[in-house]
Amino acid sequence: MIADTPPFKVRPQQTYVPCRQWNWQPSRPFVVELVEGGRVKVWEPFGGPSGLGCHRWVALASLHESGTTRTGKERQTGWRLHAGPPSQGQELCGSCMTWVDRDQLAVSAWGYGHSTCAPCKTKIDQVVGI
Ligand SMILES: [Zn+2]
Repeated sequence: MIADTPPFKVRPQQTYVPCRQWNWQPSRPFVVELVEGGRVKVWEPFGGPSGLGCHRWVALASLHESGTTRTGKERQTGWRLHAGPPSQGQELCGSCMTWVDRDQLAVSAWGYGHSTCAPCKTKIDQVVGI
C-alpha cells in the first residue's frame, strides 16, 4: 500500500512540544531553527537561566511526528510536532506555540516567541482573574 501523506520531515520553523510534560527532567516547547545532520538547533522561547529564551541542540531522533508510537503507545520521551512552518507575516504565540496572523495577537512582544494570541490572552486573563 502506498501512503499518500508525505513522509515526516523536520523543517525549520516547525514547533514541537514535549511528549510528556514531566519525566525525569522538565521539557519545554521549541521552534526548529536549523537541521544539521543528526542534530537540530532549536529556540526555546522560555528556556535559559533567565527564562527569556535560549538556543540549544537536540538530537534529530528525539523529534517525532506524533505523541504516540506506531503501536499506539504514548511516547515517554522526546518532542512531538505541534505546528508547521508559518505563512507569510505570521508570528509565534509563545503560549500555544502556534503561528498566528499579526492581527490575531493580543500582546505583541519584541522577543521571538514572546507574543500572545487573542485566545491565549483570554485564557490567561481568566486564570489571573482580570
Ligand atoms: Zn496562543
